[in-house]
Amino acid sequence: MKTSILEYLLENKKFVFFDKTFRNNQILDFIFKKREFDFNNYLNIPKNIRDHLVENFSVLKLESVLEKKSVDGTRKFLFKLNDNNYIESVILKDNKNRYTFCISSQCGCKMGCLICKTAEMGFFRNLDYVEIISQILYLLSVSKKLDNIVFMGMGEPLDNFIELIKCIKVIVERLKFSITRITVSTCGLTDKIEKLFEEFPNIRLAVSLNSTIQEKREKIMPICKKYPINELIDTLDRCYLKYKNRISLEYVLIKNFNMTQEDIEGFKNFKKFYHINLIPFNSSDENMKPSDKNVKFFYNKLEKMGFNATIRLRKGSDIQADCGQLYYFFKDQ
Ligand code: SF4
Repeated sequence: MKTSILEYLLENKKFVFFDKTFRNNQILDFIFKKREFDFNNYLNIPKNIRDHLVENFSVLKLESVLEKKSVDGTRKFLFKLNDNNYIESVILKDNKNRYTFCISSQCGCKMGCLICKTAEMGFFRNLDYVEIISQILYLLSVSKKLDNIVFMGMGEPLDNFIELIKCIKVIVERLKFSITRITVSTCGLTDKIEKLFEEFPNIRLAVSLNSTIQEKREKIMPICKKYPINELIDTLDRCYLKYKNRISLEYVLIKNFNMTQEDIEGFKNFKKFYHINLIPFNSSDENMKPSDKNVKFFYNKLEKMGFNATIRLRKGSDIQADCGQLYYFFKDQ
């Protein structure tokens, strides 16, 4: 695979072939403003430079090798990285015709959440910010539009903090995409949550809660031993009061596990300004899959407590593109 030209241009590295900054900016404009990835079409750039670019560089730092389409319109893409690792990204379309890009931040994940397929892959490596932005640029080239970006693909974004921040800066500055339409998902890395808001006070945050009880959280999200629920609540309250931004709590509803009265009572520890997203667990095991009636019961209880809650419709289940389903093993393809 060729070297991505973005690695030179975004880092302001001197590009051997030309010494003028305006050339760099011309190329960046083609990429970010015109979304043109074929160097041959950069017609206001001298032919010898275009030829050099074609011969030695690519725009993106990954290659799309497979696309799967769901009956509900969700599209999942498999990307090959330079070191032959693979990652996935998803385009989701909701019933209001809004398009959301779900982006990966790591190849695999260290967090080990039991309800997540990515965890089964183990952890290979962090993605660098050019690999992360390359996913977005590729999806832009095949999507009708873009309304929201969510870092909810493979990996824990806050575990790859520096590259995530660099990527978000490029999205905001180069793509001119509003920070209020970017959501970072986390399983609750409290120290990094504070830092994220210091960098981007208006960014959206989605926290995987999955239980209001410490012992239960630890069972399905081992990282919670390091980041206890009391510390998480304190951090979120502090951040919300300081920045007044939208924070949602993601709650995967698992039958016979986190849908009891005790679980509902646990929400008393949370302030009402959090939005709660209920996600019925999509399991092949019927003992873990909640019925629609029980989901509605849980939802009604939260509404009665004064919470603003939604039940998230599953998207892309038939192509394993929904929440917690992204993973890749070479032998499976
Ligand atoms: S849910 Fe997120 S943090 Fe947990 S293992 Fe999966 S990708 Fe990692």
